[in-house]
Amino acid sequence: MSIIDKFNDAQRAVAEKSKSVSEANNLKRKILYEEERIVEIFADIGKKYYKNPNDDPAEFKVFCDDIDTRRRRIKRMRNELNGIRGYKVCPKCDAEVNDRFQFCGRCGARLPDVEDADFLIETEQL
Ligand SMILES: [Zn+2]
Repeated sequence: MSIIDKFNDAQRAVAEKSKSVSEANNLKRKILYEEERIVEIFADIGKKYYKNPNDDPAEFKVFCDDIDTRRRRIKRMRNELNGIRGYKVCPKCDAEVNDRFQFCGRCGARLPDVEDADFLIETEQL
């Protein structure tokens, strides 16, 4: 390998790295946004109930469904973020585990694959 090839490889590695850093920052920003929205929706539910405590409970369902959707979105983005960082979080005990492992080193639970969306929803416990 020539010195120029080595230089190009190094340059590519730096570009890869900064790309994943900006992707990670992007995800963090989106997660923060969703978390803030959830707090606002909870406040909206509280205000609605305060004003009209005898409203049909079904009217709150839209708000609750919205929160559930955002929580799933956050969960997916957190998993994506962990994938970029090279680890995943145990769904049972929240331990951070290297993403090459299939089972948690602390509690032994099976760890989800990042692409395994059904598993994520099934074990969701936000
Ligand atoms: Zn665990």
